[in-house]
Amino acid sequence: MLIKLILLALGVWIVYRLFQSYGRRVKREDAPKNETGEDMVRCAHCGVHLPRSESIVSHGEYFCTNEHRQLHQK
Ligand SMILES: [Zn+2]
Repeated sequence: MLIKLILLALGVWIVYRLFQSYGRRVKREDAPKNETGEDMVRCAHCGVHLPRSESIVSHGEYFCTNEHRQLHQK
């Protein structure tokens, strides 16, 4: 009888561990779109997506390059 309890506990533990590793995998897939976890923004001129830190912000709009910022404002 005791061996059954041990096997049951072991089974529960294995299932628990499987769920834990599954949960971690799902979380990684749901993680933000780039490695640093930064927000992605869209260039208002050409529509390309880039990390917020690499974008140029002007009048509340994001641009991928300074050139596109200037082109957009003409
Ligand atoms: Zn652009």
